[in-house]
Amino acid sequence: MRTVVTGGAGFLGSHLCERLLADGHEVLALDNFLTGTPQNVAHLLEKDAFRLVKADVTDYVHVPGKVDQVMHFASPASPIDYLQLPIETMKVGSTGTLHALGLAKEKGARFLLASTSETYGDPQVHPQPETYWGHVNPVGPRGVYDEAKRYAEALTMAYRRAHGVDTAIVRIFNTHGPRMRPNDGRAIPAFTSQALTGQPITVAGDGSQTRSIIYVDDLVEGILRLLRSDLAGPVNIGNPHETSVLHLAETIKRLTSSDSEITFIERPVDDPSIRQPDITVAKRDLGWEPSVMFEEGLSRTIAYFRDHPELVR
Ligand code: NAD
Repeated sequence: MRTVVTGGAGFLGSHLCERLLADGHEVLALDNFLTGTPQNVAHLLEKDAFRLVKADVTDYVHVPGKVDQVMHFASPASPIDYLQLPIETMKVGSTGTLHALGLAKEKGARFLLASTSETYGDPQVHPQPETYWGHVNPVGPRGVYDEAKRYAEALTMAYRRAHGVDTAIVRIFNTHGPRMRPNDGRAIPAFTSQALTGQPITVAGDGSQTRSIIYVDDLVEGILRLLRSDLAGPVNIGNPHETSVLHLAETIKRLTSSDSEITFIERPVDDPSIRQPDITVAKRDLGWEPSVMFEEGLSRTIAYFRDHPELVR
């Protein structure tokens, strides 16, 4: 099996490359290092089955030789990144997806799109099943990410229907684990680095908004089961355990034995107030459900930041 992973030097891409190699795949990672870094896959570079190529998938995607699977993960993904890189985000979701789909079509490969729970926007249905069409503000600042992913989903389905490409769409819910960046604007790395350095833990709004967080190993397992199935999706992969952001901050404070105080800052525009995946489809059709418990996952991510004090200074 030869698998191309766009965004392979990112947080999730690097975990996917690692797991695919462990499963005996040949892996080609394409990345322009916009929000990722070669350091994320430095430990894989010595493997014969792994190649990392610097490439911007919005320019073109050319891969000599056979390709069995294309996993399209390239995209700024954290709120800070996509708010700072709005055009790049829209380009990689549109033109980048077009090129990645073109590669899958040319090679007769299975294509898997990394979509997101953000396609549900600020949801009015709870929990969110795949059949829910979402509640997204296209002209708000977050629209660049949400709508790019919604367009990418539509394009993926168009290639399936018009060109017969074997496609799959995964809607990923908030994921955490090693190789997240502490300053990427996501709650878990922010709270963890604040707690470990004794700075105030900054909770947005009153912290009553909810999130459902999944540990990266569970996510990777779910994605690979979808890749190896013949499902088109979309399929939600996330952990239905729902927590308020304030409870998340309190838990991280406790697990790090931190003296940091919890303070409250302004809530970002269009920040979703609730979020929880309905994973009935993944359970039924992929035999998948998350196995890493809430505090166990957090402890593993905290351990990573403790082991990398240079990241949290
Ligand atoms: P990340 O920023 O760590 O990784 C994205 C990678 O894509 C980076 O290495 C970046 O350099 C690369 N990239 C960006 N634009 C590119 C381009 N034009 N050409 C080539 N490479 C490019 O983010 P992540 O958290 O690993 O997210 C990976 C994918 O999963 C994204 O598509 C994201 O939308 C999706 N996703 C992530 C989460 C999450 O919780 N992490 C949730 C939902 C969806």
